[in-house]
Amino acid sequence: MSSDLYIEQLRTQFPILDQQVNEHQLVYLDNAATTQKPQSVIDAICHYYQTSNANVHRASHALSNQATSLFEQSRVKVQTFINAQRSEEIIWTKGTTEGINLLANVFADQLQAGDEIIISALEHHANIVPWQMLAKKTGAVLKVIPLTEQHCLDLTAFQSLLTSNTKIVSIAHVSNALGVINPIKEVIELAHQQGAKVIIDGAQAVAHIDVDVQQLDCDFYLFSGHKLFGPTGIGVLYGKLDLLNQLPPWQGGGEMIQTVTFEEATYNQLPFKFEAGTPNIAGAIGLGAAIDFVNALDTECCQNHEQSLIEYTENALSEMSEINLFAKDVTKSGAISFIVKGEHSTDIAMLLNAQGIAVRSGTHCAMPLMSVLNCSGTVRVSFSVYNTLDEAKVFVDALQKVVEILG
Ligand code: PLP
Repeated sequence: MSSDLYIEQLRTQFPILDQQVNEHQLVYLDNAATTQKPQSVIDAICHYYQTSNANVHRASHALSNQATSLFEQSRVKVQTFINAQRSEEIIWTKGTTEGINLLANVFADQLQAGDEIIISALEHHANIVPWQMLAKKTGAVLKVIPLTEQHCLDLTAFQSLLTSNTKIVSIAHVSNALGVINPIKEVIELAHQQGAKVIIDGAQAVAHIDVDVQQLDCDFYLFSGHKLFGPTGIGVLYGKLDLLNQLPPWQGGGEMIQTVTFEEATYNQLPFKFEAGTPNIAGAIGLGAAIDFVNALDTECCQNHEQSLIEYTENALSEMSEINLFAKDVTKSGAISFIVKGEHSTDIAMLLNAQGIAVRSGTHCAMPLMSVLNCSGTVRVSFSVYNTLDEAKVFVDALQKVVEILG
């Protein structure tokens, strides 16, 4: 089967794509914000509520056992998906943001004044603000890896920022604003040489790049289900077992305890120690179905297809003199960011929306990066496996029209 036909067939699994917006066929190019859901994920969530809904882990009745079994099967699917050594290393969260906040909170006892946390200039607010809060609480210093002229991480600068006081390095696998793939393997190795723990924000990576946490040797890896064809409100924090065991719990409540008296509590084993309260059971089951969907994909075909969409669009935009592309000619995953000279990014997005095209404009939750790029915001086009070359062409033609109208 040709790859075009394969993608066309894949696309039929996403019912939402078959609709008109502003009297045009919808072209959904905002996948970095959230991906659409295949019918199998929608069905898995409905099926759970129709047949197995009950609270997990706490009862000895059939429905609860069924729900627990589906919920824990999903955990194992995540474990296999990112090649974690054990399912106990997979902690359910609400999403990447909650996972980073969890870590920033449980690391509070481990840091003291003068310790250093390193992030980079292209992080999402979710990987900036929790560390600022931790630095304020502990007196630790937050350092930022600058970018090169090509808008990539400056690894030489990173090496000079690293000291024996560096305790945490927290870096995006892929930039949400620029689509740039960071050299995380090198970052992890360099940080480990100084004894720092490395946290990888994989929110933008998991839907595009094969992730093997053991091969990467990262200490923690985080992602959100909704950017991987799964539902919102469910995410994953992976951590190495010994590190998770050493860290204190974050939130207190049911599930995370073993025994409770009015004076004190003892804590549950992993992964439950970090999962206080009733979890998002349907969300976890939906994410499991999303991982089944990804596992059934022809990975090579999909990755080549996504790259060809990026290349086509980047080449077409490069030829338009009104456009300034960021991270031009850098290998990217999923997203392309640009500005139309002299125009506000939101105006461009609104004029594209009038033609049925969904893109994102603004700061992309990366305000500090926007000041590095010296702009108030960008237009971001982000692709997924179900986007076609025809859609990329429709986008480029529509953008040309927008530029002409504004010119
Ligand atoms: N990190 C990156 C790189 C992201 O792109 C996002 C979401 O856009 C997040 C973190 C936060 O993810 P969530 O809002 O799902 O918690």
